[in-house]
Formats: sequence, C-alpha cells, structure tokens
Amino acid sequence: MSGIEEMERIDVDRVRSYPPRTSEFTQPFWEALAAGRLQTTRCAACGALSFPPKPVCPHCWHGEVRWTPLQPLGRLYSWTRVHAGPEMFAAELPYEVGIVDLDAGLRLALRLVAVPGREFAPDMPVRLVVLRFRDGPLLAAMLR
Ligand SMILES: [Zn+2]
Repeated sequence: MSGIEEMERIDVDRVRSYPPRTSEFTQPFWEALAAGRLQTTRCAACGALSFPPKPVCPHCWHGEVRWTPLQPLGRLYSWTRVHAGPEMFAAELPYEVGIVDLDAGLRLALRLVAVPGREFAPDMPVRLVVLRFRDGPLLAAMLR
C-alpha cells in the first residue's frame, strides 16, 4: 500500500509488564505490528473500521471483515500521567497514557512515549510507534 507510513520501532530492554492476550484471529495484527505496520479490520458489508480488530462488525454485525492498513497518524484527544498505577506497572511509574484520534477516524487508548522538554496537550499531532519489548511489540504514541 503506497502512502502508508511505517512506524518507528523503539527497543525496550525488558518484557511487557502486562502482555496482551492474543488469538489466532488477532495474529495478523501482531505480526504486522512487529514489522512496523498498523492494520485493523474493515467490515465487508458496511465498510466501518473497528479497533481493536474484530471478527464481527460491531456496527452492523456482519460476519465478514477484511484486514486493512491504517496511517499511523492522528491527534491527541486527551491524556493523563499515572502516578499510582496497578501493581504490574509499579516499576514504570510515572507513565503517560492518552486517547488518540487517528486520521482514519478511530479513537484508541494508548501508552504515550514522552519526549524530554515537550509536554503533552490536547489536539497535538501524534504518530504511533512500536515499542519492541523482549517478548513482543506494543503500540504507543508520541508527539510529532
Ligand atoms: Zn458493518
């Protein structure tokens, strides 16, 4: 697909604190993510995008969906800094999480990657990146 940007991959020298649950259905998402590409499912009937990827369209309940690449660009809708987090994330405190509106029209909740000297603010342009942990990838966002 031309015009779709590859995501930057950032190495993180530890395992994920809370590894995501994966399935045979979501395997293409994780494989693409590891390769720096963002993709999700689009309904074959109504054309609506879903994220996270789903085998059934949540808009019209049609059972046929197709994988489609997404431009990993958007804007920060909202964000927060977590100072008191769940036990499994204690070693990472404080950390930032945000809600990102992708240009494709999807709203995602993501970990944010802080850039020294730059503070997050609503409506700032962001790009999605891949955090490459020792045990697998995670999707995150950082300021453009
Ligand atoms: Zn649909």
